[in-house]
Amino acid sequence: MTDTTKTELNDAELSRYSRQILLPEIDYTGQLKLAQSHAVIFGLGGLGSPVSLYLAAAGVGHLTLVDFDDVDDSNLQRQIVHREANIGQAKVASAQSNLKALNHHIKIDTLSRKLKASDVLELIQTADVVLDCTDNFDARFALNQACFKAKKPLVSGAAIRWEGQLSTYDFRQENSPCYQCLYPENNGQELTCSQSGILSPVVGMVGSMQAIEAVKALLDLPTLTGKLMIMDAYTMMIRTLNLKKDPACKQCGKL
Ligand SMILES: [Zn+2]
Repeated sequence: MTDTTKTELNDAELSRYSRQILLPEIDYTGQLKLAQSHAVIFGLGGLGSPVSLYLAAAGVGHLTLVDFDDVDDSNLQRQIVHREANIGQAKVASAQSNLKALNHHIKIDTLSRKLKASDVLELIQTADVVLDCTDNFDARFALNQACFKAKKPLVSGAAIRWEGQLSTYDFRQENSPCYQCLYPENNGQELTCSQSGILSPVVGMVGSMQAIEAVKALLDLPTLTGKLMIMDAYTMMIRTLNLKKDPACKQCGKL
């Protein structure tokens, strides 16, 4: 939830974020709003790495990191928030220490256990923006449902092989489609990076864009709500498709 007890940026913060405050769309007011904001990041892997690094660096004042996995050597090819020295540690602890080393001005909480649906909803109710950086349909459906119920913006990214996709489902808006408008059912055919492969910077491409979307959602700037961006890093082609709310959607539909 927006931390209104923080009423100004100090000199060190003004200096740190000066290049961002220069942007007229951000300015002092926007930077203060970022410092007051709470982003919850689910998954500290390939997407969660650039997302957490950029949101920490950009000065989002409170991050909560959620992941129950440990850092493995094979993660380091793409999960750039972790270091060789972190192998064997919980991903959230590893990410927390490396993000703290990047920006001491922000607060970082961690959760390293599997959450029940009621815990997910409770946590999301305290968020200003939620980032889906997970890699499976069950988690994606659960986050979509909780964000829909709590009326929070959900920035959802996915990457596999050379391809990525991205959208924002902003449930503060009545007419926003949801993740299940796009994927109505868990068809059991999900692809994972460990099985299908992934080019390292492809997760960086999608994750950086998720961080941009999160900043814009926090500042009420235009996002990809109602659109789906599909990126192919092999051909460097990017397409943006319109995504409409499905009246028959099991999650957000009215039928
Ligand atoms: Zn829907």
